[in-house]
Amino acid sequence: MSANLVGFIGLGNMGYHMAKNIAQSGRAIVVYDVRTEAAEALSDTENVVVAKSVKEVADRAETVLVSLPNAEIIENVAIGENGLISGAAIKTYIDLSTSGEKAVQKISEKLAERGISSLDAPVSGGPPGAKEGKLTIMVAGDKDLFDAKSDLLNALGKKIFYVSDSVGKAQIMKVINNLLSSAAMAISSEAVVLGVKAGLDPNLMIDVLNASSGRNSATEDKFKKSIISRKFDWGFLSELAYKDMKLCMEVSEEYEVPMYLGTNITHFWRYAITQGAGKEDFTAIIKYFEDWAGIQVGESLKHEADAKGH
Ligand code: NAD
Repeated sequence: MSANLVGFIGLGNMGYHMAKNIAQSGRAIVVYDVRTEAAEALSDTENVVVAKSVKEVADRAETVLVSLPNAEIIENVAIGENGLISGAAIKTYIDLSTSGEKAVQKISEKLAERGISSLDAPVSGGPPGAKEGKLTIMVAGDKDLFDAKSDLLNALGKKIFYVSDSVGKAQIMKVINNLLSSAAMAISSEAVVLGVKAGLDPNLMIDVLNASSGRNSATEDKFKKSIISRKFDWGFLSELAYKDMKLCMEVSEEYEVPMYLGTNITHFWRYAITQGAGKEDFTAIIKYFEDWAGIQVGESLKHEADAKGH
């Protein structure tokens, strides 16, 4: 057990980079992932120790961060049998995942019964932001605890917002952000498909949009990198995007706020999930619009369209 040792659980598209940045900030870190290969990929990094279980992390580290896929897994890891709650060293739990207001509150209450404090700290910026240590972090929880952990969070992101003293409110902020991000992805895909069908060059369209009022996070960050390149490699699964939209819709139910447009975007993703899109990157959502229009947004197809004289 060490007062200075940091724990990190969940070394996926986001967590791998975040854990690495903590290690590279000079802090000793103990990591765990159910996929042993994910932890092994970090084992050669200076300052990293690989643990064999969730409990081992909480037995050794005073502060434990998690970046895990969904509320069920997070609850299990945090407060389930042999979860973080049973660890001997843990005093602070920081959830960087998008787990939803209710799950975060439930976990925080259970951990508090054992004297473990929680910060609700979801992030934005995707794997590129995680890799560069440039995430946006939205934090809710006790202000003194937030102040005490700010240095650590600075290793992950430079835009850190203290949202509320009430654990769960940062989750609300995050799912509102993600509804907008997914809406931008869907409507931009629909619009660019239209343009390409009508004979416009997709790269040029993105340049024009990014210099005009139609620009958004999909056109600015994702179209050229992951869609026009046909790599679909942004690093955010459609099933996670859908989970976040559903969490946002739960908030709208709770506060009885009509969300006609948000419901449609969520429903569109529900359709995509039924067609098998869950494990695909969320940038691949454009394929549905392409199928309906009978074209593909990619450099090679531009030449085919030109050749057909369209
Ligand atoms: P991911 O699926 O790539 O990574 C999750 C990791 O958790 C995997 O390595 C998995 O093996 C591990 N895991 C699953 N169950 C586990 C368990 N019981 N014990 C230990 N490890 C376990 O997901 P991600 O894209 O890195 O996202 C993580 C969280 O961050 C999610 O809540 C997501 O919504 C959120 N998020 C993702 C992005 C993004 O762009 N990818 C951006 C912001 C927030």
